[in-house]
Amino acid sequence: MISKSLRQNRFQFQKTFRLFSTLQSPTEQDFQELVKRAPSSLVVNHWEELEKYNKDWTGNYSGKSRIVCRPNSTKEVSSILEYCNERKIGVVPQAGNTGVVGGSIPIGDEVILSIEKLNQIHSFDGINGIVQCDAGVVLQTLQEKVAAWDALVPIDLGAKGTCMIGGNIATNAGGQYYYRFGSIHSNIIGLEVVLADGTILDLMSTNRKDNTGYDLKHLFVGSEGTLGVVTKVALNCPRLPSSRNVAFLACDSFQSVCETLAKAKEHLGEVLAAFEFMDKAVLDQVATEKRIPLLNDNGENYDFYVLVETQGSNEDHDMQKLELFLESTMESSQAVDGILAQDMKQVLDIWEIRESCNPIIKSKGYNYKYDISLPLDCYYDIANVMRDRLSKFPTVEVVNWGHVIDGNLHLNIIDKGEFKVREEVKELIEPFVFEYTISKKGSISAEHGLGQCKNEYLGKYAKDAATVAVMKNLKQSFDPNGILNPSKFLPSL
Ligand SMILES: Cc1cc2nc3c(=O)[nH]c(=O)nc-3n(C[C@H](O)[C@H](O)[C@H](O)COP(=O)(O)OP(=O)(O)OC[C@H]3O[C@@H](n4cnc5c(N)ncnc54)[C@H](O)[C@@H]3O)c2cc1C
Repeated sequence: MISKSLRQNRFQFQKTFRLFSTLQSPTEQDFQELVKRAPSSLVVNHWEELEKYNKDWTGNYSGKSRIVCRPNSTKEVSSILEYCNERKIGVVPQAGNTGVVGGSIPIGDEVILSIEKLNQIHSFDGINGIVQCDAGVVLQTLQEKVAAWDALVPIDLGAKGTCMIGGNIATNAGGQYYYRFGSIHSNIIGLEVVLADGTILDLMSTNRKDNTGYDLKHLFVGSEGTLGVVTKVALNCPRLPSSRNVAFLACDSFQSVCETLAKAKEHLGEVLAAFEFMDKAVLDQVATEKRIPLLNDNGENYDFYVLVETQGSNEDHDMQKLELFLESTMESSQAVDGILAQDMKQVLDIWEIRESCNPIIKSKGYNYKYDISLPLDCYYDIANVMRDRLSKFPTVEVVNWGHVIDGNLHLNIIDKGEFKVREEVKELIEPFVFEYTISKKGSISAEHGLGQCKNEYLGKYAKDAATVAVMKNLKQSFDPNGILNPSKFLPSL
């Protein structure tokens, strides 16, 4: 298919998109050379076949790339980057393409470098709890494989069936067990990375302790493909818990959610693994497609829900703690109702409710998505503030969920039945939502990153000028031609 399309040399998209003055649009000669270097690359004269790589799941971003390089090895990654660097062609690293901020989508016709074919799990060291694998392994595949070795991957998120470990590292993905296991920075042991000029950096140490020189691997965690392409990973994998329990509780105020969280920390201590929150507005949406297992006497959703998970190594001990916690929180009316999963199916069913928030609201209308950190004492206020601001639009709903234990709120505004931006709605949301967040000393991007959505806000709402200048210097020294993920992550000026 590749060679055929190259022979035919007929691309539907003859128009080139040269957004970056110092970068070149790839020519057909470039395509031929890149296909030689990575034979599984996809170059087609039918636009539809490239569409999946050029569009994201939110529908908010699309590119015009006419080539997807799909290297089968680190060497091929190196060869592609070396060539693109010499020719000054922009390259967009892409993993599972589940990002929320358009980081994996080209802005123009940059080359897409998909890591999907780098998908081998190489080894697992059961005593040290370290897995070594390629960056293109799908997170859920890795989780399942590692579970078969009685260990777990310390990262979990709703997109696990599609996102890849390399993408998780590049975004420093947070997810539901961040409180328990810490960030990817805490769990990454080694990395292999290819730099913009094709240099392969072998940082694949499996030493847990190593204080020799700058710890470079951390620079690539959360750098969203702007400093190098992650090709291999050595990751800490703790022992699989033998005891896992999930409770689903209803609260009638956000204050009660916070008090329940405090009680969970007090009573559950070291076995507390996750504490997630959802409001009625989002569960009313979820309820159109899933059964909510806990309703009030009128058969309606409660105002707030929390999902509490414990993980430990002694079922009796964990259950005793959980019972004490549940008694205490119900007695003090912090939680007004609750259920405890009786088996693994129920555990997964409860998690399914939480994880389906994102996909279900997408089907309801245009989503304005915000992923912010806020102090707990004002965490939920913004939801009501936004409801007031948007009250003149009857089709607009503000729905919320999040990793409340980390102060991370997924504030989502749905314009029901509309499937594109309405400027009159958006101008009431932005920049207000960012200004409000920083006025409360929060973060405008808790875990989704910056991509092409929030890069221009970095200097305005997130970091001071000196910090942004250091970041730009770093980018300059790693990628002097600016080929890696151009016009993303860092502000243009
Ligand atoms: C249903 C759903 C739930 C989600 N829940 C969460 C959540 O709880 N927490 C969270 O943090 N995110 C969440 N996300 C967002 C997203 O899944 C994460 O950002 C994820 O880590 C992206 O991984 P990916 O493989 O899809 O990467 P992609 O989307 O393909 O890429 C993301 C970024 O990383 C870069 N990149 C990809 N691969 C590499 C590589 N090998 N080397 C260098 N750079 C690379 C890309 O250029 C891009 O900038 C969710 C998304 C969905 C759809």
